[in-house]
Amino acid sequence: MVRFTGFEILHLRLRLRSPFTTGYCSLREKDAVILRARTEDGHTGYGEAPVFGRPDYLPESVDTVIPVLSRHILPPLVERELGSVQELISTYAWVAGNGAAKTAVEQAFLDVRSQMTGVPLHRLWDGRRRHIEAGTSIGSATDLERTLHEIDAAIPYGYRRFKIKITPETAQSMLQAVRDRFAHVPLSADANGAYRVTDVDELVRLDRFGLLCIEQPLPPGDLLGHARVAGALSTPICLDESVERAEDAATIAHLRAASMVSIKPARAGGPSAALSLAAECRSQGLETWCGGMLETGIGRALCVHLSACEAFSLPAEISSTAQTFEQDVLKAPIEVADGRIDVPQSSGRGYEVDEDVLGRLVVGSTVVGRPG
Ligand SMILES: [Mg+2]
Repeated sequence: MVRFTGFEILHLRLRLRSPFTTGYCSLREKDAVILRARTEDGHTGYGEAPVFGRPDYLPESVDTVIPVLSRHILPPLVERELGSVQELISTYAWVAGNGAAKTAVEQAFLDVRSQMTGVPLHRLWDGRRRHIEAGTSIGSATDLERTLHEIDAAIPYGYRRFKIKITPETAQSMLQAVRDRFAHVPLSADANGAYRVTDVDELVRLDRFGLLCIEQPLPPGDLLGHARVAGALSTPICLDESVERAEDAATIAHLRAASMVSIKPARAGGPSAALSLAAECRSQGLETWCGGMLETGIGRALCVHLSACEAFSLPAEISSTAQTFEQDVLKAPIEVADGRIDVPQSSGRGYEVDEDVLGRLVVGSTVVGRPG
């Protein structure tokens, strides 16, 4: 039984090592929301609501997850006995959407649960991998020099996939310059929905760069358009923003709108929902990876454990935390070496949170129930 006595919702602000620029935004700092949960028997669980400061990439943001957690999801959990993750989820199943908020509370529960049962978090599912393969996302859609520099800096880590952000205006010149400098890196491109189906000929011209995939070329709702693009290109199409629920897998497979899917717990509605979605995608013949959202080490730890499960077939999108932030919240960074991350085998999340650093990064907090 897990019995929470109280929660702290911590709003953090972390300095990025280099600006992160996509079709949505350009960031020098990353806002984050961390949930710290205490239990009656002295366990502390952490979860992250993977959001940004503004509701541009996800409908949720710092300004939505804090009140949704503090007013709706967390109060009924204080001093309540919870026997399983299904029981936990059932307490807030009435809340529509808000997958990032739900991810935070489910992660905190799983963290505590795995500590109590003495197993690594991924063993609460069917996770068996001792190492996972990692890819990195280079966040600069408009600055060629910075993109080249960041790829150069990431090469020693041996990533299995280098993903760059593209826009219709910059794609050809950016990819040409990257290929001129790095002819053989395993490269993919993420358009974050910036093209329209009428740009199909422009997208076909990207085939010559030998990309592992083009991610989300068209807006999320345009599955028919993606089917047309996927039929015209030899480069595989990966969908990200388009995929929210398990039923989407059959639709994508039926339409042949993509052959790969990037799965994010926050979009799926939590880690359990993300695993169900990934399993459904695999059963429909789609390749899957666990996608990142510029999380702190706490959120990345969840992606490491999820990626230890067979439902994820391609390298996860988890960069080394030391590469992303000037200071992260974990005592030891999540490290990528030779393109791989060791999956922690100790009980719980397996990464120790640095409470001092965490405290220094807090810019606001809300308490529900008894404080620590
Ligand atoms: Mg993406």
